[in-house]
Amino acid sequence: MRIVRYTLLADDETTRIPFGFGDDLFGEGDSSQAGSWGLLVDDLVYPLLRAPYLSVDKGGQYRPAVTGSSHRLDEVRLLAPVKPTKIACVGRNYAEHAAELGNEVPSEPLIFLKPPTTVIGPDAPVVYPAISARVDHEGELAVVIGRRCRNVSEADALHYVFGYTVANDVTARDLQQKDGQWSRAKGFDTFAPVGPWVDTAFDPTNRTLRCLVNDVVRQQSTTALMVYSIPRIIAHVARFMTLEPGDLILTGTPSGIGPVQPGDIMAVEIEGLGTIRNQVVAETLA
Ligand code: MG
Repeated sequence: MRIVRYTLLADDETTRIPFGFGDDLFGEGDSSQAGSWGLLVDDLVYPLLRAPYLSVDKGGQYRPAVTGSSHRLDEVRLLAPVKPTKIACVGRNYAEHAAELGNEVPSEPLIFLKPPTTVIGPDAPVVYPAISARVDHEGELAVVIGRRCRNVSEADALHYVFGYTVANDVTARDLQQKDGQWSRAKGFDTFAPVGPWVDTAFDPTNRTLRCLVNDVVRQQSTTALMVYSIPRIIAHVARFMTLEPGDLILTGTPSGIGPVQPGDIMAVEIEGLGTIRNQVVAETLA
């Protein structure tokens, strides 16, 4: 099952959203407002009544509630297919990436947060901040949480996963090094492209992950090379904070990170899951 969020292209004039973002983050209300949930089947988008992880049958299976008639994929603008309350990210979860920045692999998962205001969807612009001189791409597999989760074992952790999507942990590398902690470097608006959909049936085992800039491959690896597994990461994060339905976990980037410039097009693709493409644009200060 593939879950999307979308607006109708025909509504673009009336629901123009800066950066493809800006609908109410936490409400699940009026689906006529910018951003509706949808179920993607082939090239058709079926509107959903509510966030898909809120529709669970007695057996605990997700049963998204379809309402209304479908739209063709070319009639919609896809938004980020998630509305996280937080984005927990793993640093240095691929040994070669840790090494390329001169770091050791941490002795337990190294967690930092990106705020929900970083999230953008497919084809929305990533804004290159005026106060940074080096912005990097970081292609990553993202886990979407489906059930509230706190203090779970590794053995049970996958029960709390709703599905998977593709993400780009965009980073102002100069500010990361300058600040010593990462809130600013990782936290600029538009620094978390996510999408194009959440796939609930995806098996993340040993999948090729690539990041291309202007069609040139910059990163190519496999999820098999993660230092800490997805169950280990979930159990680790849920040991200190509650994960809510819709929250994201970014599982770390492989080696090959590098800078982008305004005008560049970044594409992160994961085998069997999808590709998210975003152009970098310079910040214009009013
Ligand atoms: Mg990262």
